[in-house]
Amino acid sequence: EEVQTSDDIVRGTNDDATVSRLSATDLGYFQDPFVKLFVKKPTRRSPIINRGTFVRSYVIDSIVSQFLTMPGPKKQIVALGAGFDTRYFNIKAGILNYNGNELSQNLAKYFEVDFSEITMKKAMMIKKRKELYSLLGVEEQGKLGRGGMDLLGKDYSLLGGDLRNWPDIAKRLLDAGLDLELPVLFLSECVFIYISPEESNAILRWITDQVKNAMFILYEQIKPDDAFGKMMIRNLKSRNIELKGIRAYPDLMHQEKRFKDLGWQNVKAVDINTIHDKYLDRSEIARMSKLEILDELEEWQLLSAHYCVALAVRSSDFVQEFNAVQ
Ligand code: SAM
Repeated sequence: EEVQTSDDIVRGTNDDATVSRLSATDLGYFQDPFVKLFVKKPTRRSPIINRGTFVRSYVIDSIVSQFLTMPGPKKQIVALGAGFDTRYFNIKAGILNYNGNELSQNLAKYFEVDFSEITMKKAMMIKKRKELYSLLGVEEQGKLGRGGMDLLGKDYSLLGGDLRNWPDIAKRLLDAGLDLELPVLFLSECVFIYISPEESNAILRWITDQVKNAMFILYEQIKPDDAFGKMMIRNLKSRNIELKGIRAYPDLMHQEKRFKDLGWQNVKAVDINTIHDKYLDRSEIARMSKLEILDELEEWQLLSAHYCVALAVRSSDFVQEFNAVQ
């Protein structure tokens, strides 16, 4: 057995996210025909986890869809710590759409960044499966770069590297065609929490300085200090997983402040309870309760109070869209 480094453990959280996504799609919470390609050992998750996975995917997909259907120039998306995220493929296949409207025609380019160990596996899977590579929009299935750690397609770039070394990542994003004049939506879905606040803020500062029309979606754990939060931290600690960012941004207001301090005016952070109870269509909730019974309502609410979605908008061009989302 090889010794697991703390980076290996962080990379392992990607498998958790992917297995959970497959569990929820297998049960019919939402559609994603691609996620199964990335899971070796499917495991059925609890109703609470499945519902959480659905709400997380629903809210982020909604913002992504609205971003891609905004008028104006073509849009770019940069997924930080993308793992085996299949959103690009779902957009290209029209599975993720907006009231039936294609989103891909408005997509200039989709960038994904993760550790090379992850991107290499993802690139290999994409090259192997026609249902994936045929969506890349190039005949030659995308070009592998840097010994198979990168995959460069026409509207898709998969880049292997360490977010903690942002100058290197930023340079490679620019080399891969990130256009600072076009709108960019950045995603950090359970990612910033694993790097230090200094490291994540270096990324946010670069975006603030370099990208004129930027939007940011941040999804991660909050509230480490109440009883449930302490249990959550303890459980993760027993698996050697450390939530490095949670102390600096323990609550919704801190998550908003981190963007406001950088001059982002339009920022809103809510927890998953708010999304579930206020924003989600009632019909979706009725549909979910037919898929699986959720008896542990109290536990669901506790868990959901510990996950935050922050949406931050830097350009006034986006204000209208932002208001629609909140
Ligand atoms: N965003 C994906 C999702 O929601 O399904 C994956 C989430 S997973 C919990 C966290 C991901 O962040 C992993 O794939 C991990 O490798 C990546 N990650 C964490 N720290 C990173 C770093 N310093 N550089 C690059 N990727 C990192």
